[in-house]
Amino acid sequence: MQPVGAVLWFLFPLVVYASSSLPNIIIIFADDLGYGDLGCYGHPSSLTPNLDQLAAGGLRFTDFYSSTSACSPSRAALLTGRHPIRSGIYPSVFNSGSRGGLPLNETTIAEILKPQGYATAIIGKWHLGYGANGKYLPIYQGFDDFFGVPYSHDQGPCQNLTCFPPDTKCYGTCDQGRVLLPVFQNDKIIKQPVDFPHLVEDYDDFAREFITNYAKKAQPFFLYYASHHTHYPQFAGKLYTGRSLRGPFGDALMEFDGSVGNIVQTLRHSGVENNTFLFFTSDNGPETKRMSRGGNSGLLKCGKATTYEGGMREPAIAYWPGKIPTGVTHELASTLDLLPTIAALTKAKLPTVHLDGYDLTDLLFQGPKGKSKRNTMFYYPITPSKILGMFAVRYGMYKAHFFTEGAQQSEKTADPDCHSTATLTAHYPPLLYDLEADPSENYNLLASGEAEKYTSLLQQIELEKAKFEAGMEFAESELNKGEDLNLQPCYNPQCTPKPSCCHTPDITL
Ligand code: MG
Repeated sequence: MQPVGAVLWFLFPLVVYASSSLPNIIIIFADDLGYGDLGCYGHPSSLTPNLDQLAAGGLRFTDFYSSTSACSPSRAALLTGRHPIRSGIYPSVFNSGSRGGLPLNETTIAEILKPQGYATAIIGKWHLGYGANGKYLPIYQGFDDFFGVPYSHDQGPCQNLTCFPPDTKCYGTCDQGRVLLPVFQNDKIIKQPVDFPHLVEDYDDFAREFITNYAKKAQPFFLYYASHHTHYPQFAGKLYTGRSLRGPFGDALMEFDGSVGNIVQTLRHSGVENNTFLFFTSDNGPETKRMSRGGNSGLLKCGKATTYEGGMREPAIAYWPGKIPTGVTHELASTLDLLPTIAALTKAKLPTVHLDGYDLTDLLFQGPKGKSKRNTMFYYPITPSKILGMFAVRYGMYKAHFFTEGAQQSEKTADPDCHSTATLTAHYPPLLYDLEADPSENYNLLASGEAEKYTSLLQQIELEKAKFEAGMEFAESELNKGEDLNLQPCYNPQCTPKPSCCHTPDITL
């Protein structure tokens, strides 16, 4: 006898699609965007209407953390659900000629979703390695499509690139002696250098087409949009240049916000908004050394490349109309939790490796009333070592700093603790803060004259720290494999002299 399902397959093909009604997944990842940069997080002059609407219609997090405070490790953690030390993504970030990359045996969100029948795409900045002949590109990590740039747009000579208005040189000179920043479609360079003023329009077109196409086919999709905004040097296309109240940073942010609006509108028009889990956050805190071009961590201390709150605590919004109740949550959560959460939402198989994230579906579906399974956050510096171990621990509402260190990326603010002149300092007993009463890490509880009140709390924190460190395995560093400038992506690999000959034929330099 024919199973009923098989009969329906022939009569009503849509039933088959409906039976695979897995949710679509969208992750929108900003770059170097601080805790205080969005309208919905209190910035007085940012214009972010689309993100504000997303927050109003979704669940906004006040205590959400990136795993680290720099681009490459933070992206590795987001995609693998593992602390980046476990995959060797340290110290610091990949460059244009880096030999290493995210090891291909690491399992990404895209890879757990492929067996579930998902179409997968990444738009924007990869920054998890290029390697010999592009062997670390996203198409080798579970993404069907890659449309974007392989690393940060300041990792090349950006004085040769134009911004809007036409023929305006982009701000700053960025990194000299490297190839011009290429744009990839899968493993092919389609433009070198990137055409900055039109890049986001192109990304928006890709996102619109991708969503519409798979919504029409009723095939579940995963879209990872890792924008270069609001990383230095900031710029925007014609539609946004000069339109914000915050100068070039504000324009870049507005353009990013426009892309968020484009994605939500497309979901709505395609009829899949109510079957899509959309998550927005940022990779790390603001690069304050760029001053007003560098973003803002709001009331949090310091920014990029530090283990203070401003380095790793990020704006974050979960959005799924009809499924995720609207409101604000003060529960702890992290980019590390996205892979296990998405696996639970899609019934995907978890990779059989040590994961550092938690399934947060209970929290999401109960919204502001929900409880997180995460009660700790462990802060490692971007140049971690086995000898020093972690720098800080968050345990519930408390945070203990065992080491502090400023960073050149966090220069120029009024707080000298953030600057590179604040050298590595050990603290024993640690500096202890109540982040609920004192999110700015101003008042050390152990210097309050009531230190004895916190003895058992400190013991518990020490225990959590020791437990996590005992299970932390340092993979061989991918960044210590160094660089070979001959590995840089080049449109004409055989051309000379490099790097200046590496460009598409339509470009006159
Ligand atoms: Mg970044």
